[in-house]
Formats: sequence, structure tokens, C-alpha cells
Amino acid sequence: MNRLYDLIVIGAGSIGVPVATEFAKQGQSVLVIDSLSSPGQGQDKKAIGGIRATHSDKGKILVSQRSIEIFSHWKEMYGDDIQWISNGYSFPAYSRKDENLLRDLMNIQQSFGLNIKWLAPEEYRELNPGITMEGLRGSTYSPDDGSASPLLFTQSCYFKAVGYGAEFRFNETVLGFHIEANKITSVRTDKGVYHSAHVLNTAGSFAREVSQMAGIDIPVNPDSHEAGISEPVKPFMGPMVVDIRKGRGSKNFYFYQASEGQVVFCMTPDPPVWGVESGATSRFLPMVARRMIKIMPMLTNLKVRRTWRGQYPMTPDGFPIVGKMKELENFCQAVGMCGQGFMLGPGIAELMYRIVTENYGPDDPEILKNFDPYRDFKGQEIFK
Ligand SMILES: Cc1cc2nc3c(=O)[nH]c(=O)nc-3n(C[C@H](O)[C@H](O)[C@H](O)COP(=O)(O)OP(=O)(O)OC[C@H]3O[C@@H](n4cnc5c(N)ncnc54)[C@H](O)[C@@H]3O)c2cc1C
Repeated sequence: MNRLYDLIVIGAGSIGVPVATEFAKQGQSVLVIDSLSSPGQGQDKKAIGGIRATHSDKGKILVSQRSIEIFSHWKEMYGDDIQWISNGYSFPAYSRKDENLLRDLMNIQQSFGLNIKWLAPEEYRELNPGITMEGLRGSTYSPDDGSASPLLFTQSCYFKAVGYGAEFRFNETVLGFHIEANKITSVRTDKGVYHSAHVLNTAGSFAREVSQMAGIDIPVNPDSHEAGISEPVKPFMGPMVVDIRKGRGSKNFYFYQASEGQVVFCMTPDPPVWGVESGATSRFLPMVARRMIKIMPMLTNLKVRRTWRGQYPMTPDGFPIVGKMKELENFCQAVGMCGQGFMLGPGIAELMYRIVTENYGPDDPEILKNFDPYRDFKGQEIFK
């Protein structure tokens, strides 16, 4: 406990584990502390595994494109199968308003270098043959997006981190910091006190509480979402379907067929459900099933195996909070990942390394603009 680490990471989740891998790979000494018993037991394992660079902001697109490069080459780089498939994402439109919105966004996304195009209804039906054609005006299609298993990725990433020398302490909760002269001098847990040159908050849904321990408030609030998974069936789906229409009690919903044949789905409740309560509700499945069958009637007899509830660590504008804190020179945040922490993880890990070592890349100022902890949070990421 007298050792001085280069970095202490608070939280072994979607962000903390890839960060530990990146720093340890670069030869830094890293300690990761998590209250739970193993990696990815917070919100990471609640994610349905969607990975897209289809965002409305250049910074998020660039970080996600880097993540996709890492996810898609993971098996050849490290030998572990994380069930990556390059199935793509699609946002079908059933009204002129949605078509205009998606096409306008697509023009912006293309100008940021995203591989995305518009498909006519018949072209889209070839990719997703079960889709409802009535009223369909076409769909965006971004073929480089994909999916992978959060459980397999985070587990594999954890073993890489350990292999590179990172230390993990599970079943241990960070309770506070010792601060002297604008610096965190030690991290206090329920089991000990640890010292490091830098401290990084990656505490997900509890990021606000952890930051408050350092006397800094950040607007990250847990926003509940439910998801489910079906039995495995033969391949029948192309890209992930994101239906942006509103329903009764819900906003958008999305689903895709995973590499082993299960259909995985998730829905955004309306109004939002704030808080960390994680019991699955009886409302969710009837609500989402009705909407899924409407857009893809062939799902009618699909058997659902289980549903679950977790939280998006939400910020008011839908952008993450990533950067160094001015109040405490060695305290950094990589929090507020909203519904995208899994897909952003590997890209954020590399970005965090560049931030801590102050070795910025040419795109970093653009990336960090909307991730700035000191922004006014008045903007809106449309695909948050
Ligand atoms: C239903 C659902 C579906 C989703 N689908 C997707 C998807 O398809 N794609 C995607 O990219 N994202 C998805 N997400 C979002 C994603 O799960 C989150 O954005 C992501 O997990 C957040 O990562 P994180 O590292 O910030 O938090 P977490 O992964 O939750 O990690 C934070 C860790 O910090 C630990 N911790 C907290 N406080 C302390 C403390 N005081 N001391 C020690 N440890 C502490 C926690 O135990 C936890 O392990 C989904 C989320 C839900 C709920």
C-alpha cells in the first residue's frame, strides 16, 4: 500500500478495464479498484453489445471508429473471440419527417468521414427481409458498425491488463480522497489507502458520488433502461434496427441478431426512469414485443429467455465527460458514457492515455471539445 502507482482507476467497467489495459501496455503502473467481485459487473454486463460510429458529433465518431478498429481486430491481435460481427446499423424511416431528419444527419455524418448511405425500401428489405414495408421510406445503413459480447470483451481485456502488469482490487469500495495543495495524495477505500500520480474516475452510474468525494460535482445521473434476449435462431437479420419513432411509454427501441443467433433488444422509456433500482419490470416485455412485432412481424413466435434492467450514466447533453480537472491537477474523469460506454471504451482508453501524458493527437482538440468537463451542457447529441 506504500507503492506509488502511475494511475489509480476507480471502477473496473466498460471504461476502466480498457483504460487499465492501455496504460499497463504503455508500461505504466496501474491499480484498478472496484466494489464488485470481478470486472464488468456494473453496467458493462447490462449492455446489449451494440457498437457504432453512427453518432451526430465528429469527436464521438472518431473515438468510435477507433474502437471499431480495435474490436474488429481483437481476435487476430489477442487470440480471444469476443463475438465481433460486422452486421452494421440501420435507422429505417416511416415518415417524411424522420426521413428528412436522418438524411440531414447522414450528410453531416458523411462530411465527418462516416461510411453511411441511404437505402431505398427494396434495397433495405434485401438486408432485413422481415421488415414491414408499409409506409417504409428507406433507411440509413452504416455497414462498418457491428456488435460484440461485452462479457467476453471485458473479460479478455482484463486478462490482457493483468498480463501487462495492471493490478486489480475487487470487493473494495473507494470512500474518499486525501487532498493537499490541489492534488489527490491518496485514495481511501474500505480496506486501505493507496497512492498514485494520477487518479481516474470511471465509476459509471456512481461517478457523481465519486467525484463529489473530491469536492467536484459533475452532472452524471443513472437513467434506467431495460433489455432482453431471445433464444438463438437461424440467421435471418442483417443490420441492427433502430426505430426512432415514439411509442406509448417509450421513445426509440433497437434490436439485432447476435453472432450465436439470439435477438437482443433494448428500449428507451418515456418519461425517463431515474435511479439505480435494477429490478426488471413486467411492463417492459409486452411494450417492446408489441413494437418489435409491428416493425418485423416474423418475430411473433420468437421466445424470449430473459430481460434485465440497468442504467445509462447520463449527462444532460448526451456527451461523455472526459478530461483533467482544473481544481485538482491529478484528477481525471472518463464518465457519463450514456448508452455508449461499451462501444466507446477502447477509443476512450487511448484518448485518456494521451490526455494524462499530454501527448495529444491532431484530432484531439476536436474530439475533446464536446467532452469538456467545463462545457455548459446545453447542446444535444442527437443519437445519445
Ligand atoms: C440495458 C442497457 C443496454 C445497453 N446497451 C449498450 C450497447 O449496446 N452499447 C454500448 O456501448 N453501451 C450500452 N449500454 C451502456 C453501457 O452499459 C454503459 O455506458 C457503460 O457500461 C458505462 O461504462 P462505465 O465504465 O462508465 O461504467 P460501468 O461499466 O458501470 O463501471 C463502473 C464501475 O465502477 C464501480 N464503482 C462505482 N463506484 C465505486 C466506488 N466508490 N468504489 C469502487 N468501485 C466503484 C462499479 O462497481 C462498476 O463496476 C447499455 C446499458 C444498458 C443499461
